[in-house]
Amino acid sequence: MRILLTNDDGIFAEGLCALYDALCQDHEVFVVAPEAERSAVGHAITLSDPLRVKRVKRGNVFFGYAVNGTPADCVKIAIHELIGPEIDLVLSGINRGANVGINVLYSGTVSAATEGVILGYPGLAISLDEYKEPDYCFAAYFASILVDFLAQNFLKNPKICLNVNIPFLPANKIKGIKFVRQSTAPLIERFERRVDPHGNVYYWQCGERFTEQDPDTDVVALKRGYITITPLQHNLSDPELLSKIASWQIEF
Ligand code: MN
Repeated sequence: MRILLTNDDGIFAEGLCALYDALCQDHEVFVVAPEAERSAVGHAITLSDPLRVKRVKRGNVFFGYAVNGTPADCVKIAIHELIGPEIDLVLSGINRGANVGINVLYSGTVSAATEGVILGYPGLAISLDEYKEPDYCFAAYFASILVDFLAQNFLKNPKICLNVNIPFLPANKIKGIKFVRQSTAPLIERFERRVDPHGNVYYWQCGERFTEQDPDTDVVALKRGYITITPLQHNLSDPELLSKIASWQIEF
C-alpha cells in the first residue's frame, strides 16, 4: 500500500519513527508531518501564514517533509502538492498519550486521520496511553498488524475512520481488543494560577481526569487494559434533534 504517515508530535517524534520502521518493509510510506509538536490543535488549518516545507533526512537518508503547519495542513498539502492523490491510507501516530473521550475533539492526531477521510481516503489514528518516555515497540507492531488486516478487508471503503488506542502494558498483559464508542462524559480539569518572576499572573491548565464509568467506552476499556478501536465520523449534525426542531415555526 501507499501510506501517508503523519502525526501531531512532530516529524522527529519517536512514535512516528517507530510506525515508519514497522511499515516501510511491506509498504511505501510517505512522511509529511509538522516540523514541531502541534498536539491538541484539533482540526485547525493555517490560513493567515504561508506554509513552508522542508525535506528532512534521518540517518543521512531522505525521510519526509516537515511542514510549519498543523496535522490537517500536512494531510492537505501532502495530497495536493507533495505526494499526490495516489494514497491508500492516511495514518496518524503513534501519538504520545491516549486520545479518548472528549480529548478526541482536541486531538491533532485524530484530526489528521479525519482530514484523510474528508479528502476521500481511509483514515487511521494510533495513540499509546503513556506520556513519560514510552516504548513504542508493541504499539508499532500492533499498528502494522492492523494495517495489514485493513488492507485485506476494508480499505476499499474510503469512509472508514478508526481511532485506535493502545494501553502501555507488556503484550501478555493486554486483555484484548474492544470495539467501543467514544466517551462524551465531561472531564474534571483545573487551572493552576502562578506568578512569574516579574509579578504577572499566569495560568496553566492541568489535573485532567475522566469521569466516565461505562465499560463500553474508549476511556474505560483502555483503562482496563484493552486496545480500543472506535469508528469516527466527522458529520457533527444531530439527526435526532434535527427531527425535533424541524417543526419549529420561527417568525421573522
Ligand atoms: Mn500529540
